[in-house]
Amino acid sequence: MNDEIKKKMRSIPGMDILLAQDWSLPWQEELGRETVKRHFNADLTQIRRKLLEGEIEDVSMDALRLLLEKNLELERRFRLRPVINATGVVIHTNLGRSLLAEEALVAVMRVGSSYNTLEYDLEAGARGQRNSHVEGALCALTGAEAALVVNNNAGAVLLCLSALAQGTEVVVSRGELVEIGGSFRVPDIMKFSGAELVEVGTTNRTHLRDYSEGITERASMLLKVHPSNFRMEGFTAAPEREELAALAHERGLIFMEDAGSGLLIEGQLLGLSGETDVRTCLEAGADVVTFSGDKMLGGPQLGIIVGKKRVIDRLKRHQVLRALRVDKMTLAAFEATLRLYAKGDYDKIPTLAMLRRSSEDMKVQARRLASKLRTVTSASITVLEVEDAVGGGSSPALPLPGFGVAVSSHPAGGAGTLQAFFRSLDLPLICGARENSLVLHVRTLSRADEAAICNAFELLEQEKPEKEAPGHV
Ligand SMILES: *Cc1c(COP(=O)(O)O)cnc(C)c1O
Repeated sequence: MNDEIKKKMRSIPGMDILLAQDWSLPWQEELGRETVKRHFNADLTQIRRKLLEGEIEDVSMDALRLLLEKNLELERRFRLRPVINATGVVIHTNLGRSLLAEEALVAVMRVGSSYNTLEYDLEAGARGQRNSHVEGALCALTGAEAALVVNNNAGAVLLCLSALAQGTEVVVSRGELVEIGGSFRVPDIMKFSGAELVEVGTTNRTHLRDYSEGITERASMLLKVHPSNFRMEGFTAAPEREELAALAHERGLIFMEDAGSGLLIEGQLLGLSGETDVRTCLEAGADVVTFSGDKMLGGPQLGIIVGKKRVIDRLKRHQVLRALRVDKMTLAAFEATLRLYAKGDYDKIPTLAMLRRSSEDMKVQARRLASKLRTVTSASITVLEVEDAVGGGSSPALPLPGFGVAVSSHPAGGAGTLQAFFRSLDLPLICGARENSLVLHVRTLSRADEAAICNAFELLEQEKPEKEAPGHV
């Protein structure tokens, strides 16, 4: 190392000096001294390397402060934090699926900040059941005899197969051996539960006689799985639920359905004609039905199991249940959400409200957003019709027409550049692109989001996105 470089290295202030700077004290207060130290260490290592490699000449305290604070600014951000969803995908699994209703959030605050009745029976003055808070409402809404909730629907299916079919055969159509979200695969979960999969029929057509012939004396269950994220068209066939239920019961088997999304109201009320609600599945003869709490139901993440009392009782006694039990905050949010269903207040449930939005309403919003944007950007702004989606592996083929705002010819760059810039913000804006235009779908946007989007465009005007990424002096 030559003397010149040695001198430069010595000119970089040491950790103690940095930690004692007036500007660094509030950061230590906010993030903790050790966190700040860890950041400074990492940043200083980089700067020393750059000095050695001649990438930078020297470092003034001002330049150093700028860099260190920029990275602390990023550290200040919560990793799990809100984003604006301008994709038009209502149940976006990567963006947290369903938003909770106001009433559900209030219930979470109330229960989370206080001791509560989670497992306490006030009448008996003794230990109670956490499941009891929502069982009655679930039965009333679905017509089931009994109900149980677990961590998520994957857990619900696992519990059912483990408790009801371990060591026996489960008959499933080849057309329903689905994979959902890359991690839930029917054959894998079956293996894990200790049940044995018997595939019947073909990919596109499975007849009642296929099921019938697939049932051996080792079978205990006939399982129907909602093919949530794809739809088969053309030469297809599957027996009616009633036929499957009758066959299962005639041969002494349980008829289970994994309904996936789980509609608590008739699909028509949401404009989703192809979807079967949970009550209808039970009325058709299913002994047990499982579904998610945070898909089309619009509640917290949950796996819900409803069905015959004698079947649900077996689940309640199973050891696996202990590993899948749900938290008090989830139960609080869910009880509040179910109350909204009981009252028919569907538009207070954000997922339902967004699915039910009228074309006129979205057109008005798109026009309003467009005219707001024209005041903050020189880009070309147009209102257009778009294709939205239910998402969350629900109703894949359902056309969900919506409205959007396209942004093109922005001086800062093409759609990819803008998307990256908007993702880098404190409140990131997530949106799609079409032919180098940014497209903002309004179905999933609130009024507050509109203001935040304008704000994001203002930031874009001030700060060129090509600007160097943080970490370079
Ligand atoms: C989404 C889905 C699951 C998984 O549900 P999670 O609540 O995400 O665990 C299982 N089965 C079907 C049919 C689904 O659509």
